[in-house]
Amino acid sequence: MTKLDEYLKRPVSELVADSPRLVSQEEKERHNIYSLLLMSMVAFNWNSNKRSVDDSQKPSHSKDYGSNLLLSTSEKPVPRGKFLKGDYLGHNIAAFAVDRDGSVIDFDFNHNEIFNSSTQHAEARLLNRVFSLNQIYDSWNVGPPPKDTSSSYGQLLQGVTIYTSLESCAQCSGIMTLGNAKEVIYLQEDPGQYKIGNIMFRLTESNDPHRKSLAPRPIPANTFGFNYYSVLSEKFGEYKNATGNSSITSFLCTEAAFLVFLEAENEFYDLANSGLKFPDWKAKLINGSESRLSNKGVLEECLGFYKYFAEKGRRGTPH
Ligand SMILES: [Zn+2]
Repeated sequence: MTKLDEYLKRPVSELVADSPRLVSQEEKERHNIYSLLLMSMVAFNWNSNKRSVDDSQKPSHSKDYGSNLLLSTSEKPVPRGKFLKGDYLGHNIAAFAVDRDGSVIDFDFNHNEIFNSSTQHAEARLLNRVFSLNQIYDSWNVGPPPKDTSSSYGQLLQGVTIYTSLESCAQCSGIMTLGNAKEVIYLQEDPGQYKIGNIMFRLTESNDPHRKSLAPRPIPANTFGFNYYSVLSEKFGEYKNATGNSSITSFLCTEAAFLVFLEAENEFYDLANSGLKFPDWKAKLINGSESRLSNKGVLEECLGFYKYFAEKGRRGTPH
């Protein structure tokens, strides 16, 4: 009996329900660091000239967001909102992948606009990049073979967690399922995606404790108490009421949205000064061992990655 057979006899509400797993306080701290990094990256590359947004919704370009909101100008890459005054290059949505040891593998942004395509989503672009990066190691002449040559491409991403700033669509959920990614953490709910990630997860869920589902488990960021999850939903609600426009990507071009992402960036940098509650905690892996990076290591990794991203992070486009 397949999962589909099971769910055919049950209410649809059970199929679409969230299925967050239990997250310890220590793990919450870890997710919080990655999530703040992701929002900081979106703030840094923010662009807001989307055609569907009227002038009243555009951030005022005369404002200097950076100098008003910086906590430590010597530490933070500047300027944020880099593309505020330029052409619209894509929706303000980003994703990155984290390996089982806690290292950030790579990131990408939504590039629908620049490629004139509705499929150039951050997660889809990211997964294709990660598979390509992996193939560097099976090259015939660039170095020694990887230590573990037994893994097929179907298993490469089994320990990989995807962080995405907006709940994934059917295309990206499909690509992440084909890639066998472990989990997808999303920082804002997208009501327009009809919970497709939850549906795919539930229909491929395995009863075998040693075998995960084929689809990544979608984890809304409120599972780990990420405050910006509800703030973004609230602000999106206000935007819809005020404009009658229910496009979430249009909302993500507004000053109201930008300020939420900037606030998150400030909090990200505060972490470096305020310290962590569980600096030495490491994640438990499926094979019983521990991740290489502790929470403190994750914070150092994320601060370093942000600098790399701000100074060198290009993905074949100016965005
Ligand atoms: Zn997508």
